Amino acid sequence: MASLMIESLTKRFGSSIAVDGLDLKVREGELVALLGPSGCGKTTTLRMVAGFLPPTSGRVLFDTEDVTRLPAHKRATGMVFQSYALFPHMTAAQNVGFGLEMRGLGGAERQTKVEEALRLVRLSHLGGRLPRELSGGQQQRVALARALVINPKLFLLDEPLSNLDAKLRAEVRVEIRALQQRLGLTTLLVTHDREEALTMADRLVVMEGGRVRQIGSPRELYDAPQDAFVADFVGRCNILSGRRENETGFRTESGLVLPVDTAPNERDNANAFALRPERIAIQPGANGDLNGAVEAVTYLGSQTEYHVRIGREVFVVIQQTPGADEPLAALKPQDQVSLAWDRKAPRLVPQT
Ligand code: ATP
Repeated sequence: MASLMIESLTKRFGSSIAVDGLDLKVREGELVALLGPSGCGKTTTLRMVAGFLPPTSGRVLFDTEDVTRLPAHKRATGMVFQSYALFPHMTAAQNVGFGLEMRGLGGAERQTKVEEALRLVRLSHLGGRLPRELSGGQQQRVALARALVINPKLFLLDEPLSNLDAKLRAEVRVEIRALQQRLGLTTLLVTHDREEALTMADRLVVMEGGRVRQIGSPRELYDAPQDAFVADFVGRCNILSGRRENETGFRTESGLVLPVDTAPNERDNANAFALRPERIAIQPGANGDLNGAVEAVTYLGSQTEYHVRIGREVFVVIQQTPGADEPLAALKPQDQVSLAWDRKAPRLVPQT
């Protein structure tokens, strides 16, 4: 496996710019996810790394080798697409072996490698089936085996789970991550699914408009987003516009003063208050400093979501679902409640 270095990578299509001076290093054995809204340049970046698309400027290096001008088939990347892209008339084993055949690897050796790759993705028993005789999840695993069998320097995943249903997606996510860690695969993953990015990646790159907004571990981005866009993109968030009142308060545009320990949690030019719904505690009765009225209660199984209005602001609160006999379990719209949070929990960030 190699490390990946992307330097000032830029791609223009006519007058529009899809990727704008991207810098990124993926360390050997690390999984980095590119996360961002549709059109932010994730796929274009991946395609330039794979060699399918020439950059307008900038460089791509595998370890110290500059591969910017190298065609895709000489880069030794293992790529997995959303569509799987399996050959429909070939069996699973033939699909996996195809790349080896192209590289001139013959009979017995090829068969050994194919068997090993199928075993890695737990499909040894289904090697003789055609793609149409396999479930979506199994086809996805064939695609993974096909990418792995060539001993790639770099593993590239383009929305690999989008075609799977929610339950299967959660399972395959864990499986791919386990395989990636076990084999130490240097991996670049493209996704617009924040849960996928948060659960699978060592580090996340949040992109917008062809540029990097923030790079960091999932926890860094979730707990300490540098702006409101990142805060909102990596998870649910209460974001309220306003300005810092003093060291212990933030005044919203509607005049509500919210408790916050500003010193360690404030970014430059901050004009928004950002607080995760699960960091807010809710109590029945108007007995606190921040009292409001319940607007909605939504049961989500292990968690319950409350919408609480205080003046002109509505807060989203997510808490573990209370036991049936706890006072919170009886909350209904119009009930009075009080909200509270640790002053260190909110972030004051710029809204751009
Ligand atoms: P999605 O999640 O929807 O796939 P993305 O983040 O992967 O989005 P890209 O596919 O990289 O985004 O596209 C980035 C921008 O470049 C978009 O505005 C897109 O319209 C544009 N673009 C991509 N490919 C081309 C092309 N071949 N010709 C012209 N414009 C393109």
